[in-house]
Amino acid sequence: MRILLIEDDQMIGEAVSIALKDAAYAVDWVKDGMAASSVLEHSEYQAVLLDLGLPKRDGLEVLRRLRQKGNLVPVIVITARDGVDDRIKGLDFGADDYLVKPFEVSELLARLRAIIRRHGGQAAPLLSNGKVTLDQATREAHCGDAVELLSAREFALLHALLLRPGTILARAELEERIYGWNEEVESNAVDFLIHGLRKKLGAGVIKNVRGAGWMVEKPI
Ligand code: CA
Repeated sequence: MRILLIEDDQMIGEAVSIALKDAAYAVDWVKDGMAASSVLEHSEYQAVLLDLGLPKRDGLEVLRRLRQKGNLVPVIVITARDGVDDRIKGLDFGADDYLVKPFEVSELLARLRAIIRRHGGQAAPLLSNGKVTLDQATREAHCGDAVELLSAREFALLHALLLRPGTILARAELEERIYGWNEEVESNAVDFLIHGLRKKLGAGVIKNVRGAGWMVEKPI
């Protein structure tokens, strides 16, 4: 899953991006509002973390423009402790949740999981197509009697497929979900991850559609 982090504070930005990567997200980090708006026009994210006090363009303005364009990506607004007005405005402008600085990274991760889940129309922390079930909190996949702990990237790949069962995802779409900007992608990285997942969960879990990409079956 790919997250856009919009934060001008170097220390907070670094801490959050390390925590997100550890939790199996691909992270792109921008440090001002203009850059944020421009990136949001061209890339697709599963969630956005938006600091409000930003150089060049205020966070609220970034959010207003985003929603005006009809982009419904889930957004968590990050505000200062005394920013009650900003929090209310943020929610009015279409933020899905907010966090007050300073915050615990574990709380950020829990809120992030919750909004991504709600956005995907899944209320439970388990994502399943009936054949394979993914626990988003523990990163474990259940298939038949097997319970396997997935690597960060295996998790991101299976998660992308399970969010849209019955839909073929092409290599480029999967790579986009798994890797951030600064990460180099080996040409066979997706094949390698699929191979690993099939070894853990059985060959039938992920289908290869020759020349098009990969999919998991729709729930019966
Ligand atoms: Ca700031």
